[in-house]
Amino acid sequence: MTSTLPNDNIRNFDDQITNKLISEIIRDRIKNSGTRFSANDNIADFINPGEFEILEREVASRVKDLLKSLIIDVENDHNTQETAERVSKMYLNEVFKGRYHPQPKVTSFPNDKNLDEIYTVGPISVRSACSHHLVPILGECWIGIKPGNKVIGLSKFARVADWVFSRPHIQEEAVMILADEIEKLCEPKGLGIIVKAQHYCMKWRGVKEPNTSMINSVVRGDFRHDLSLKQEFFELVKQQSATNNY
Ligand SMILES: [Zn+2]
Repeated sequence: MTSTLPNDNIRNFDDQITNKLISEIIRDRIKNSGTRFSANDNIADFINPGEFEILEREVASRVKDLLKSLIIDVENDHNTQETAERVSKMYLNEVFKGRYHPQPKVTSFPNDKNLDEIYTVGPISVRSACSHHLVPILGECWIGIKPGNKVIGLSKFARVADWVFSRPHIQEEAVMILADEIEKLCEPKGLGIIVKAQHYCMKWRGVKEPNTSMINSVVRGDFRHDLSLKQEFFELVKQQSATNNY
C-alpha cells in the first residue's frame, strides 16, 4: 500500500492559498465530477465535514449584501440586524435543506407476505419554493403504491417527500424527482403521485390570483399500464381528500 496525500487534501491546500470562497470550492468539486447542480439537485455528497458552517457564514454575508443593495439600514434597524444570519440558516437548514443535507435514513423490508393490494398515503404536506422567484409553494401530496419486493414504513414516505420538496423547484419536476426516489427505495410494481399546491408567485406577486392551485400527477409501472388500477388510485385519493376536507 502506498501512502499518498488524498486528492481532496491537496485541493483544499491549494484552495487555502488561492483564498477561494467555500461555495467556489464546493462548486469546483461538483463540476470536476461532472455532476449537475441545478436548484432541485441534492449536493450533500460534495460538502465535506466542517465546510457547512463556513458556507452558512458565506451565505449570510451575501444576504447582508442583498439587504444593503435594497438600501435597508442593517446597522441601525434592529429588526434587520440579524436577518442575514437567519435567512442563511433558513435556506441551508430548513426550506432548502433537501439540497444540502443527505437523504433521511429509510430502511426497507422484504415483502414476505407478497402484499399486492394498492394503498395510498396522504395528504402529505408539500412545503417547497419556486425556482423562479424563491417564494413558497404550499400544498398536499398523495402517494399510491402497488408493492413490489420491498416495503417501507408509511411515515417514511412523508420524510422522503419533505426532503425532496425542500428545494427550489418547479412542481412538474418535483413530482418526477419524488417518484424516482420512491422507486429507488421500495421498487414498487406500481406508483402514483398527485400533488396539489398553491404557488405564492401567483398569490403574492404577478397576477395575484389567491385561489389558483396547480394539480399534477405521475403514474408509473402497473399504474400506467393498467387503467383500472390507475382509476382505483385516483378514487382512493378522492376519498382521502374528501375525508380531509381538502
Ligand atoms: Zn415563481
